Parts: sequence; structure tokens; C-alpha cells
Amino acid sequence: MTKTAVVAGGGIAGTVAAIALHDAGFAPVIHEAHDRGADERGAFLTVAVNGLAALRTLGLDPALVFAAGFATPTMALRNSAGRELARLPLGDPDPDGTTTTTIRRAELYLALRGEAERRGIPLVYGKRLTGITRSAAGVTVRFADGSTAGGDLLVGADGLHSRTRTALDPAAPAPRYLGLLNAGGFTTGPVAAALRPARGVMQMAFGRRAFFGWATAPDDSVWWFANPSRRHPAEADEWTPASWRAELLELFAGDAVPAAELIRASDEIVGPWNTWDLPRVPVWRDDRTILIGDAAHAVSPSSGQGASMAIEDAVTLGRCLRARSDIAGALADYERLRRDRVEKVVAYGRRSGSTKTAGPVGAVFRDALTPLVMRLLYRKGDPQAWITSYRIG
Ligand SMILES: Cc1cc2nc3c(=O)[nH]c(=O)nc-3n(C[C@H](O)[C@H](O)[C@H](O)COP(=O)(O)OP(=O)(O)OC[C@H]3O[C@@H](n4cnc5c(N)ncnc54)[C@H](O)[C@@H]3O)c2cc1C
Repeated sequence: MTKTAVVAGGGIAGTVAAIALHDAGFAPVIHEAHDRGADERGAFLTVAVNGLAALRTLGLDPALVFAAGFATPTMALRNSAGRELARLPLGDPDPDGTTTTTIRRAELYLALRGEAERRGIPLVYGKRLTGITRSAAGVTVRFADGSTAGGDLLVGADGLHSRTRTALDPAAPAPRYLGLLNAGGFTTGPVAAALRPARGVMQMAFGRRAFFGWATAPDDSVWWFANPSRRHPAEADEWTPASWRAELLELFAGDAVPAAELIRASDEIVGPWNTWDLPRVPVWRDDRTILIGDAAHAVSPSSGQGASMAIEDAVTLGRCLRARSDIAGALADYERLRRDRVEKVVAYGRRSGSTKTAGPVGAVFRDALTPLVMRLLYRKGDPQAWITSYRIG
């Protein structure tokens, strides 16, 4: 008999996991908390080549899934005076041309959900998981609207604030704030035309008071993000769109990178979001339930690896469930394959984020030492290759 799976969360991990489970012979149903369209907001993310390569193993062509995105295989790091400190690869492209790609979150969700729908996988919106009950026969999930769903397996892909995580282990750690806010925007028109950088390079700058990144999209608009450091998380209603724009303009005033001009001319500014990661989550599973993606191991956005880890998780889970019929054994195999790698990436992400929050004295040292440190680090090849050259065998 076909085994059934409840997938909680229709984000990156949940959608790809449903596709991987379907490939492995399961009948998955995705249950997404938001209503259709409601969660397809936000700015953009850069998905690294290791995540894209993992998609290919499911028969998904990254060039099609990421058709609305653009290649950003390289990053240029600058100081607040605009001087380039280092130029670094964001993972070597694969021989078939698959390379680190930047895409709007909304476009990525749409493409992945479209793939799931094409394969006949149901996706139900407005289903917020609130609790789970386990029995020898399976797992039953309760939703906020009072309905329930059952299956042989529950995949908790419900993101950073996962309810599945606390249902599995009430003592599970909560997300920890990383001391950085995140904002993004899109600038078109004459300002973008005058300031757009060369294609294919994600520009990043340590401003004096905040970190800034920007890149040129295929339609010649400039996509940008900003990371102001801040001791406490922002409250939901702390800024209006106008006061947030003013705050960002003040943070970048006087820096010799085009942050202020791009922000001032931006058609749309999104955020602020607080940035978080998760300390080690000790319980990822029981016999019928598994956490994947941010629910299990949220990684700092500064790593550029959250989406790729979610995709790698999902693909690996499908592999494990295909390889053996007992679900509990497959989930144990999954954890053995994933835990070490994702915990190292979480630690790496935390270190990357902390370089963005240096004070004025730290910034002097950082700007002076970065070129030398990068030359030393990269003299034997890309030190991040253990992350980006990883391929699911
Ligand atoms: C500002 C920002 C910038 C980022 N930039 C990058 C980047 O450049 N590169 C990168 O790789 N990563 C980036 N990330 C991280 C990346 O977005 C995440 O790691 C990735 O989305 C994780 O996928 P996921 O499916 O686990 O979680 P999500 O994509 O968050 O999906 C979780 C889904 O579960 C749903 N959900 C939540 N609770 C419930 C519930 N109780 N029941 C049912 N459904 C539920 C949510 O609505 C959501 O659709 C960034 C994150 C942020 C916040």
C-alpha cells in the first residue's frame, strides 16, 4: 500500500521534500499555514550552487526552476570608501552551467509549487499545524482551523518558528537573534541605469554603520539588501515604510558606495526583518516525524546557505525513505547523513554574520586585514568549497 505523508509547511524545504517523497513512492500532501499568495512576499535570496545541484537529482532543471533569477557566481567585498577588498567565488559552477543564482523569494516559491502541482501533489493553504498525536498506526496532525490530517509520516518543514519542533520536544531551543536587521529593495529608472554594477557579481560593502549588497538584474534594475546591526530585534510596528527608508538613508549617509542613492530611488522597500539562527536542536525526529530545513537548523542569512540546506535536506530525506521501507530506520539514516554537515554550516553562518557588526575600531582592522587574510585563505583554493562543492551522491 502507498505510504502517506503530511508535509507541514509549503516553503522551500516542504515543497522539495514533497517532490522527493513522491519520487520515493509516497503520497504526500503539503499543508501550508498561509493563504495562497499571502506568503509570496519579501525580497530576494541567493541560492548557492550546491542547493541547485541537489534539485537536479529530482529531475528538476535548475535553469527552469530559477528562470526568473540571474547568475551571481562571484561576490566583490568593499569597504565604506568603495574600495574593493576582495573578489570571491560563491561556489564553482557545475559543468552544465548550474551556478549560484539570485531570485525573488516569491518567484522561487511559485516555481517550486508549480513543479509539485505538475506532479499531482496536493497543496492545501490555510492549514497551520498546532499539534500532533502519534500512534502505532501513524501520526495525526491538528490544524488551527480545527481540522486534522493523518499519515504514515510527518515532515516538519514549518520554518524557523516550527510548531512541529516544539511538539516533538517541548524543551527545544528557540531561535536566537543575530544582532542584524535585514531589508531589501528594487531600484529601476535613471538611478539604476547610472549606478548598476557589472552583471554576475554580487557587490557587498561594509558601510560605516551597516552592511549593503547590490546586484544588477537582467532587466537592468538593481536589487539591493541592507543589514543594519542592532542590539535588539525590531518590533513589528516600529517603522512605517517612510520612516524605515529614512532610517536606512541615515545609516548609509556619507558612505562612498551607492547605497543611499539606490535606497532613495527604490520603487519598493521590504523589511525590516530580524535575522535569527537556531542553536543545536537535539531532537529532530521520532519514529514517524522528522524536522527539515529551518525547522531543524536555521542558519544565518549571511551564509547564503539556508535555502540550499533546505533543498539538500529534502532530497536526502527522499533518498533515505526510498532506500528502506521502515520509516523509523530511514529517519535515523537521514539524521546521520545530515546533522554534522548542517551544524557546521550553522556555525559558519554565525561567523559570517558577526563580521558585519564590527564597531569603528574593528572596521579599521577588518578593512586593513581583509585583502591579506583573503589571499592567505584562498591560496590553496576556495575555503568554502566544503559547503558549495558538496553533491548528494
Ligand atoms: C531576510 C532573509 C534573507 C535570506 N537570504 C537568504 C539567501 O540569500 N540565501 C539563502 O540560501 N537563504 C536565505 N535565507 C534563509 C532562507 O530563506 C531559509 O533558510 C529557507 O527559506 C528555509 O526554507 P524552509 O522551507 O525551511 O522555511 P521557509 O521557507 O520559511 O518555509 C516554511 C513554511 O512553513 C510555513 N509554516 C510556518 N508555520 C507553519 C505551521 N505551523 N503549519 C504549517 N505551515 C507553517 C510558512 O508559512 C512557510 O511557507 C534568508 C532568510 C531571511 C529571513
